[in-house]
Amino acid sequence: MSSKQALPGDKIAIIEEFETGQNTFDDGHSIRSLVVGTPEFDKTNRVAKINGIKKPAVPKPGNVIVGNVSALMNNMFAINVMYIDGRPTHAGLEVICQARGAKKRILVRVGDIATAKVISLLNGVIHAIISEPELGVLFSTCNKCAGSIVSMGSSVKCVDCGYIEERKLSTKFGNSDFIKFDSN
Ligand SMILES: [Zn+2]
Repeated sequence: MSSKQALPGDKIAIIEEFETGQNTFDDGHSIRSLVVGTPEFDKTNRVAKINGIKKPAVPKPGNVIVGNVSALMNNMFAINVMYIDGRPTHAGLEVICQARGAKKRILVRVGDIATAKVISLLNGVIHAIISEPELGVLFSTCNKCAGSIVSMGSSVKCVDCGYIEERKLSTKFGNSDFIKFDSN
């Protein structure tokens, strides 16, 4: 049995042998593919279907992403997306967050794990915000000694060296059970 990729219109089986399944149609003689994907034949139920190739998920406005802060610029920062609405993604996407009117405030640091809400897609750039209470930094370490930090409202304090600095924390800060960090 071939697992060769089928293109739309490709004949994958004859109607005497199989019924149409997902992503297929019957042209009166043959079962043909509607999509690009891999044919799969269920011999017990005599159903032929195509497993469509999944396109990498792109965050849409309203989606909540989780990722690590990859770059910090004057009035914006980038988050490398690891989860979209809780589902892992490996598409290498970045969202951009504006830190408007916050020039003097430290919202995030590179390497922080943060959660943000997507607000728009403009010219291929995904814009997100961290201004809502549940959005912002989920996990971070001391900027001086990399020690553990605790929340002090709008700042964080290192339990090792006592260093205090500002952060825009998520209300879920310190409660990171819901995501597993891969340390590759
Ligand atoms: Zn420290």
